[in-house]
Amino acid sequence: MNKNAKILIVGDKILPGKGLIAFLQKQGLTNVFSETNTGLDLLSQKSVTAFFLKEQPEYVFLGYIKAGGIAANMKYPADFIYENLEAQNNIIRAAFKNKVKKLLFYGSSCAYPKKCPQPIREEYLLEGALEKTSQPYAISKIAGIEMCRSFRQQYGTDFFSLIPATIYGPGDDFNLENGHVISSLIKRFHEAKIEKKKEIEVWGSGKPRREFIYIDDLCRASVFLMNNDFNINLINVGFGNDISIKKLAYLVKKIVGFKGKIIFNTSKPDGVLRKILDSSKINDIGWKPEFDLERGLKLTYEWYQKENNI
Ligand code: GDP
Repeated sequence: MNKNAKILIVGDKILPGKGLIAFLQKQGLTNVFSETNTGLDLLSQKSVTAFFLKEQPEYVFLGYIKAGGIAANMKYPADFIYENLEAQNNIIRAAFKNKVKKLLFYGSSCAYPKKCPQPIREEYLLEGALEKTSQPYAISKIAGIEMCRSFRQQYGTDFFSLIPATIYGPGDDFNLENGHVISSLIKRFHEAKIEKKKEIEVWGSGKPRREFIYIDDLCRASVFLMNNDFNINLINVGFGNDISIKKLAYLVKKIVGFKGKIIFNTSKPDGVLRKILDSSKINDIGWKPEFDLERGLKLTYEWYQKENNI
């Protein structure tokens, strides 16, 4: 992508889209379109078709349209499957018709089977049943991955998919209902600190393990893949280590400076017990993460405080 490349970022209100815009800007790539600066209606084929005809984007980062943590997935299954499918179909079709040079579709680790050998390799996709709480969303992601693969196979288009570990960092969604565990914990620990609460509740048993990737690392990986030709259909991008929710909770407690006790509420769902990606494919072609969890969490908490003037 040269400095004048026309780039479309889909999903600019949440990560990774929101982070990608900031990241590309820092690199001097400013010819960037998104829903917000174009009024693009992703759910309308007419709107998407008109946009592509007029602007002719060369590169498309197809980020998340509707996404969230375990609670949001359980509450809005219809919105999650419908909106993601509709929007990604519209974008992929228009990208094909308008000869987009390269399209990166962001999948999700919940697209992998619930019972998967760990770490999860790209080949395990579609080898088993999904985790029920995120199944509608996961099916939309599998459809997108398969669609990119099929266009590549039938028409030779350069459309490919990336599955990241759970993304966190500046720009994350701090709405408690939608958020993933890191943003939810930062917000709740911060509020508990301010209110000088004696204890705080963390969902589930604390035993599930998750792998997290800091937004800047994911942006770097995404741009690296966009700028090089590896003839890849699907690639994992993870940090390479996971952490239990219990340890994560104690780490957030330390960073935020909450002094009370942590209680694990086992009546809340745990989700899958372990989810760690095998990222050897991207490591082997030359990308490695730079931000460890503690540093990433500190930067995220600083951003959260600045953003909310607290
Ligand atoms: P998942 O990775 O798709 O399961 O989604 P989440 O990020 O929402 O949850 C990851 C794990 O963190 C699950 O085991 C949750 O039960 C646990 N967890 C603990 N406290 C919280 C919280 O306050 N919010 C969220 N979203 N998850 C939490």
